[in-house]
Amino acid sequence: MFDIIIVNGTIIDGTGKPKFDSDIGIKGERIEAISNLKNVEAKRIIDATDLIVSPGFIDTHTHSEGDLLINPDHEYGLRQGITTELLGIDGMSYAPLSQNNYLTYRHWLSGLLGYPPANLDMSSVSSFKQHYHKKVSINTAYLIPNGTVRLEVAGFKDVPLDNTSMGKYKKLVEQGFEQGAVGFSTGSSYYPGPWTSTNELIEICSLVKDLNGVYMSEPRRANPERAFKGGGVAEALEITEKSGVKLHIAHYRTDPTNAGDIESHMKLIDESKRNGSDITLDIYPYPSGSTIPISYVPSWAQDGGPDKLLERLQNPSDKKKIVDELEQSINYSRSVEDMLFSYSPNHPELEGETLPDLARSKNISIGEALCNLLISENLELGYVMPPPVNLSLWRQVSKDCMELLARDDYMVCSDITPAGSMPHPRSYGAFPRILGRLHRKYNTMSLEDLIHRMTERPASRFGLANRGKLHKGYFADITIFDENNVIDTSTYDDPKQYPSGIPYVLVNGDISIDNQVYTGVKSGKAIP
Ligand SMILES: [Zn+2]
Repeated sequence: MFDIIIVNGTIIDGTGKPKFDSDIGIKGERIEAISNLKNVEAKRIIDATDLIVSPGFIDTHTHSEGDLLINPDHEYGLRQGITTELLGIDGMSYAPLSQNNYLTYRHWLSGLLGYPPANLDMSSVSSFKQHYHKKVSINTAYLIPNGTVRLEVAGFKDVPLDNTSMGKYKKLVEQGFEQGAVGFSTGSSYYPGPWTSTNELIEICSLVKDLNGVYMSEPRRANPERAFKGGGVAEALEITEKSGVKLHIAHYRTDPTNAGDIESHMKLIDESKRNGSDITLDIYPYPSGSTIPISYVPSWAQDGGPDKLLERLQNPSDKKKIVDELEQSINYSRSVEDMLFSYSPNHPELEGETLPDLARSKNISIGEALCNLLISENLELGYVMPPPVNLSLWRQVSKDCMELLARDDYMVCSDITPAGSMPHPRSYGAFPRILGRLHRKYNTMSLEDLIHRMTERPASRFGLANRGKLHKGYFADITIFDENNVIDTSTYDDPKQYPSGIPYVLVNGDISIDNQVYTGVKSGKAIP
């Protein structure tokens, strides 16, 4: 007697091997049989006729940790077929932090992660995991974030890590791995992380290597003066080459400025791999990103943390300096100029409006409009970059994405950033966009190979034991979808739309999405 049998489906098991027709029997949390089970009894039978039965998707890059504590249903992840998410990404999250530091970082991160309850114990990776274990709908795994640990050992300050703080830092990393962290992460511009030098990161990553962890780098943008060759991918490669750590580069895609030029996009990485570096990457299928404007505020104004930053924004001479520097940076990138607000809780009418429009309506400069809004939102502000006006560039970025994914080192991520009424569409559509729309259009690899990049490949890279594969004894994390009709429906102008063509999702043997309906079970475990 099984608890659940999935009958009449076509199985893609996650390993990349050809699909085959079979049934799957589940007992408790685990897969008990993959064979013909037509006449076997079960408490529940799912008919998967004309559907693909695959391992649940593993998302290597999300920013769900805040919203999961407020909204544990997490339908926008689950309905994409995602059953496991990596948290602690881009060098910023909540643990390990003592109570005051948690409150400080919760404030700084609020534009991205919202405001989870204040009274949570985030003092260790273990205590962090307890807030999610069997309390949310998906499995979660955790990377130890650089900015978080820096805050805990050196404060929200632009200071080098001295012997004492580096010693404490390494102790927290060791403890974090003992308590089940699967890696270590840094981010492009999320303070206090960017105050860390390349040499400090090499020292930390040497320890991460000894602990057999993966270093996930979102290539540096801020404080290039303290980075090897000014940061970016060059710094990440230097760190892996000097420390020997396994490197994973976050959402590394082409964009409208280099669309179609995959060869130069990958040149440095391929060179480093030829020289022996162990490198993997991930990607989401959109031509533009989303982040928090606070990360564009100059480094000196961040020193001291969010309260100090607010003080400076309200001091006329400091504010003028910040505005001037922001506007200078506008000359170098579209990032501030084209900002579309995704989340501004005190002014919800601005969500979906652009920064230049706001500035024009107030007859002030873009930098000043942004600073004023940061003040009135108490820093809790998120934005999305619009897609390029040139649609052929957009199509090229999509095609590049599918070509990059065909490589043997890429996997899929969403970069979920859920806050606000106008989040980036990736938060609702990344996986089905690749699985349906782009796979059918560009067909750069078999469906089996594509599923492998969403399942077994990330599971083995990040050491998620007994997941990512349909196999007897493995956890029953299962996504059932319609190969010909699965598709994203979330768009830049109407993002909060669930995908279609994914009628069933199981997490640890419980049916979480049942014939398109969310059942409300919270079976997600904090793993591994
Ligand atoms: Zn991210």
